[in-house]
Amino acid sequence: MIERTLVLVKPDGVARGLIGEIISRFEQRGLKIIGLKIIKSPESLIKKHYDFNDIAKRKGEFVWKKLIKGLTNQVVVAMVVEGIEAIPFVRKICGDTEPRAAPPGTIRGDFAHHGYAYADAKNIPVNNLVHASSGAKDAAREIKIWFKEDELITYKRADEAWHYGDNI
Ligand code: ADP
Ligand code: MG
Repeated sequence: MIERTLVLVKPDGVARGLIGEIISRFEQRGLKIIGLKIIKSPESLIKKHYDFNDIAKRKGEFVWKKLIKGLTNQVVVAMVVEGIEAIPFVRKICGDTEPRAAPPGTIRGDFAHHGYAYADAKNIPVNNLVHASSGAKDAAREIKIWFKEDELITYKRADEAWHYGDNI
């Protein structure tokens, strides 16, 4: 039940000064940041992260190409987030992939707004501020891409007992 998931603050989130705001959204809900780095992402890393076979099959080669171009040699913040059912919980906090469909209260719904049609017309990836692993298999794969085992830190938060129900 305690899961780990990979989150990226994408270049649009870094450029817009939203790193702190985005990390807060997870922290405030009892999720623990156990790995954190800022990195200028080389193409090799982005190509591992956005696997051609996955993205091209689901979204088309066109989207994969835009994604690689949009994220290569850009500043991103990578983090590993841990907590109860962290994988779906973090996805819920991020909101729908397409910002115009993401409800207010989510990161994408509060801070971004354009849609696929606009992104297509501009030939850009949809700017949606964050990446979050979509399932257990992806989370394990993506965490290994961005972090070495010894870069992940185990510690207790003071409020952890309340989030985990160990307070009684
Ligand atoms: P998510 O990031 O929500 O898991 P996907 O894995 O489906 O979404 O897609 C990866 C990223 O590709 C998205 O976050 C978004 O930035 C971009 N993207 C997805 N679909 C499109 C599209 N139709 N047009 C432009 N960009 C897209
Ligand atoms: Mg995805």
